Amino acid sequence: MKEGLVIKSTGSWYTVKTSDGTIHDCRIKGRFRMEGIRTTNPISVGDIVEFNEDKDANVIVKIKDRKNYIIRKSTNLSKSSQIIAANIDHAFLIVTVNYPLTTTTFIDRFLAAAEAYNIPVNLVFNKVDRYRPNDMERLAELKGIYESIGYKCYEISAKEGTHLEIIREALKGKINLLSGHSGVGKSTLINHIQPGLELKTGEISESHSSGKHTTTFSEMFELDFGGYIIDTPGIRGFGTFNMEKEEMSHFFLEIFKISNSCQFNNCTHMHEPKCAVKEAVEIGKISMTRYESYLGMIMEDEDSKYRI
Ligand code: GDP
Ligand code: ZN
Repeated sequence: MKEGLVIKSTGSWYTVKTSDGTIHDCRIKGRFRMEGIRTTNPISVGDIVEFNEDKDANVIVKIKDRKNYIIRKSTNLSKSSQIIAANIDHAFLIVTVNYPLTTTTFIDRFLAAAEAYNIPVNLVFNKVDRYRPNDMERLAELKGIYESIGYKCYEISAKEGTHLEIIREALKGKINLLSGHSGVGKSTLINHIQPGLELKTGEISESHSSGKHTTTFSEMFELDFGGYIIDTPGIRGFGTFNMEKEEMSHFFLEIFKISNSCQFNNCTHMHEPKCAVKEAVEIGKISMTRYESYLGMIMEDEDSKYRI
């Protein structure tokens, strides 16, 4: 029996790397059951698996417990889901305050989804070389908001290579997910960090009309200095997640922290009297944009899924 890290999945074959650095092609036999999830593809990149060596094919016999995972719900009728990445150490959300603008709504939705998935996030503000004084002011303001909640923030210029050493250090030895709107500089950043590494930046294309799902294909690229970057089309974000209204505040950390001081313990922080959250917003202890993002998510149609 050997143990290794899954670095590539085609849905039927899995590439597993063992600690001695060797690569093994593995298959699964039969079905793996996952608690509460119907899945057509139970193993993903980031999984630690045990496999038996066999003359025909290596067979995966066990998946180690995951600390987190991202799931993609299939749109077809079978309602099965796919695990598309597991054991992510952290996500880096690349944002720009201008050229193009990343909205706080987008940032906050990403952060809430990441909290729901139990994935730590760092914010990387890119293109600082291009910012005018008012952009720099906005950057400082946003950094203030997110750092005070506890999110690590970096200021970089991927183009000029500024402060990339610290990003390299943060990526080192970890399983990393890089996200962000198109145009914020993900490819430029990766090219600086590891020249020649080309990621599939495109979004996943699902064929809704025929009801078919595109073939699962996820991969992790190893960094020269150690660690991995997950490269799976379609997980620039976390897809959909469902939750109860009362649960939403759990994923806005600063709101959750203060919510036990509200008069009602099931306070939604919308219109209830003696709401500690609303008071904190009024005195500027909780940022107005964060509160607005929270309200926006909570007020969406009950049946709708939160999509980022
Ligand atoms: P992606 O869609 O997130 O992969 O973004 P790209 O890496 O393709 O970058 C989009 C555009 O922004 C390109 O024209 C880059 O040259 C430019 N860009 C990326 N990083 C920076 C930066 O730090 N400063 C400036 N001024 N431009 C940048
Ligand atoms: Zn409240």
